[in-house]
Amino acid sequence: MSLTVVGSIAFDAVKTPFGAREKMLGGSAVHFALAASFFGDVRVVGPVGDDFGASEYEVLRARGVNTDDVEHIPGGKTFFWAGEYGENLNDRETLDTQLGVFGDFAPKLSEASRACDVLFLANIQPDLQREVRQQCAGARFVALDSMNLWIETAPDSLRETIAGVDAVMLNDAEVRQLTGEASLLRAAREIMSWGPSAVVCKQGEYGAALFDADGFFALPAYPLERVVDPTGAGDSFAGGLVGYLAAHPDEGIGSPLLRGAMAYGTTLGSFNVEEFGTERIQKLTGDEVSARVDDLERMTRFDGAPVALRG
Ligand code: AMP
Repeated sequence: MSLTVVGSIAFDAVKTPFGAREKMLGGSAVHFALAASFFGDVRVVGPVGDDFGASEYEVLRARGVNTDDVEHIPGGKTFFWAGEYGENLNDRETLDTQLGVFGDFAPKLSEASRACDVLFLANIQPDLQREVRQQCAGARFVALDSMNLWIETAPDSLRETIAGVDAVMLNDAEVRQLTGEASLLRAAREIMSWGPSAVVCKQGEYGAALFDADGFFALPAYPLERVVDPTGAGDSFAGGLVGYLAAHPDEGIGSPLLRGAMAYGTTLGSFNVEEFGTERIQKLTGDEVSARVDDLERMTRFDGAPVALRG
């Protein structure tokens, strides 16, 4: 498979009810790439500063992620994000965002990254996402993530970027904010009328819903006794979903494949939240992923016998 992701490569400071980390590897492209690496080759595109060292590269390379297009900007500082979660881990507050090397980043993709079959535009400024999309003109499937910051500060650019992709993955609040529609179904249909053929609404601990031409499909989140840090769950979910699609190059991307992809996305997202940052995915094995997907499939199978109803 050939899968390219562009997005943030970051240091994160995170506080949750279960502990804190002052500076850990993060970023939308990093979480995505680590999750997608279970399915095959992934190339990461994004800038880093002088503070991004050998141990950070090693986390990616240890999982076989290709970092040739990680651009080191001399004298620059790596993107930094700080956030805090309350008792309800579905809600978080951004405490700090320092763009650093993203301030004047102009993506320059290598020939190999441009030639990708599948492209993921992880969460960054939508103009940058569009530039990358244009460089990967031959990609057969392109998906995009974004966030409230860009919906509020660059709505026209985001909408233009969305018009050029096949699938949009946002959380439910973002889908509503983007469209002004309270109903997720109406909101998803509105987004699909701009161009994409599928919309995935992430709903945190409640799971995720897929809207496409065939209708609707939803999966609950895999139930966990303990969630330590939700940071990167959405990107890991996307990495599982898009990685699965990229690993099926000979199948058309319709509902059956997308439903399988939802199960892998749900599973990778669930592992990500078990520890801080990338800590859990770094030691995750393919066998653990397969076992949890089987479990999820067993839990969500439904075969209710009919019953006579009155009225
Ligand atoms: P998620 O929890 O999946 O929504 O993604 C969390 C990751 O997104 C963190 O590792 C952050 O470094 C990264 N992130 C946060 N804010 C931004 C932003 N404005 N642009 C790009 N990446 C961001």
